[in-house]
Amino acid sequence: MGFTDIRKLFPILDQKVNGHPLVYLDSAASAQKPIQVIKTLKHYYERDNANVHRGVHTLSSRATDAYEAARIKVSNFIHAKSEQEIIFTRGTTSSINLVASSYARKVCQEGDEIVISAMEHHSNLLPWQQVAKTTGAVLKYIPLQADGTFSIKDFEQKVTNRTKIVSVSHISNVLGIANPVKQMAAIAHKHGAAIMVDGAQSVPHIKVDVQELDCDFYAFSGHKMCGPTGIGVLYGKKELLEQMEPIEFGGEMIDHVDLHEASWKELPWKFEGGTPIIAGAIGLGVAIDFLEQIGLDVIEEHDKQLTRYVVERMKQIEHLTMYGPEKDRFGLVTFNLDKIHPHDLATVLDTLGVAIRAGHHCCQLLMKHFGASATARASFYLYNTEEDVNQFISALQKTKEYFKE
Ligand code: PMP
Repeated sequence: MGFTDIRKLFPILDQKVNGHPLVYLDSAASAQKPIQVIKTLKHYYERDNANVHRGVHTLSSRATDAYEAARIKVSNFIHAKSEQEIIFTRGTTSSINLVASSYARKVCQEGDEIVISAMEHHSNLLPWQQVAKTTGAVLKYIPLQADGTFSIKDFEQKVTNRTKIVSVSHISNVLGIANPVKQMAAIAHKHGAAIMVDGAQSVPHIKVDVQELDCDFYAFSGHKMCGPTGIGVLYGKKELLEQMEPIEFGGEMIDHVDLHEASWKELPWKFEGGTPIIAGAIGLGVAIDFLEQIGLDVIEEHDKQLTRYVVERMKQIEHLTMYGPEKDRFGLVTFNLDKIHPHDLATVLDTLGVAIRAGHHCCQLLMKHFGASATARASFYLYNTEEDVNQFISALQKTKEYFKE
């Protein structure tokens, strides 16, 4: 199937916005859903909806089987050792908070270190600030270079035998580039530290093999990879997850309850207190089938190639600043045009049917590093085509003219 045919599987893209064909360039914030995922959700609520795990009736068995089958799909998709290492959460934010609250608060003592970078999304920054505040651990930042990236050497210098956890994004949601997480994992482990990887922007675009990376925890969100909103994943190595305490207590996660004590179910259910996000998980499983049918290597190449094309076209626009290094970007480019405020730019582009994002992208530290209060970001996914890029470039040029006048 070619990418033009793939696009046709996304009903939402077949519409006009403000009188123009929609050009959706905001997939880094949330991706669109193919018809298979939409139909799966509809079918689930029309035919199979019931609570999981505790019921013996047919609908409950169907819902349970589909929910647990989705877990196996996720496990295979990221090459985990077992589905016991896959915890369903609300998204990347919840997954990172789970590790921060359960693992990091337990292992960090006063004077221990947590190493992150100023490139991180707030979801991979604020949870560590909180751990540092409550435990007395020191939050250390890998210094950034002028282009917003960091070097592995600088990282290596930050990690010491007091480092308990390193947390870093696999692909930055502002720069679009990949960090060397495999090398970072090896360095962290040499010092006895664990490494958590924020995979919100990587899992949709590249093949991820958590065993090959040898990361201890890996987090991602379903909604950025053609799945429903409200579902996400925390992968964790079994031996670490087993040592961790749940952070939510209630139904579904218990084994036995007494007046003053209770014991937990085995992995992964001890971390899934309450009724889980059943339809979301099942929808995510179908999104994974869809991405795998196309092939992650094919998707990666498409997204990189399209981003190379847009970068080349943007270079020809005067007074346009792009942020980040001249390196392969995995499906997004962040920029500012002349002295136009990015919110104004995004508003005018919207009148031309082009949806981009403007703001700090939940990365205020990186914005500060660039001396920008805000930037614009165009992001691309498997349903975008060169025609989208052409319309985007033409809309940028029109906007520039508009502000000149
Ligand atoms: N990390 C990165 C790099 C992201 O791009 C995002 C989403 N913008 C998140 C974390 C948070 O994801 P979610 O809002 O789905 O929890």
